[in-house]
Amino acid sequence: MEYLNNPESEIYKKILEKQKSFITTRFSLIRNRYLDDTCCVVGEKKVIAKHLNQGLAQNLVQTFFNFKYTTCLICRGKKGENNIRQLERAHCNILSDPRYDLLMLAIDDLWVDNITPLGSGDILKLFIKKHEICPIYYLCNICHNKYDN
Ligand SMILES: [Zn+2]
Repeated sequence: MEYLNNPESEIYKKILEKQKSFITTRFSLIRNRYLDDTCCVVGEKKVIAKHLNQGLAQNLVQTFFNFKYTTCLICRGKKGENNIRQLERAHCNILSDPRYDLLMLAIDDLWVDNITPLGSGDILKLFIKKHEICPIYYLCNICHNKYDN
């Protein structure tokens, strides 16, 4: 499964290309309370990332990347076949902790100092954009488990 982590592999490039255009289109259509949130956060980068990662960013990823696939990218299996319980989203684990790392990249771009407030929605919009460097794969629960270990 190493090819899933190789930016030069066909599948990595193909998925990322599709994802980039998906992000652009979806931004123009979506109304989402997390993205529109004008509430501000302030403090150290890591503390902000940790705060947003608890629930908010996870919910947003699920809502934003709402594409549905019926077959696993790796084994081509479908739900109900070969003990496949469900198909799941899997962030490319080229990053060690993808959701947190992408949040940190977004915060890095906006952060001024630990007393300047940042809009929560602004961080989350940039966090979604940062997914242009990190493909999300659609895998069955069995392949997902193997991939993450
Ligand atoms: Zn599979």
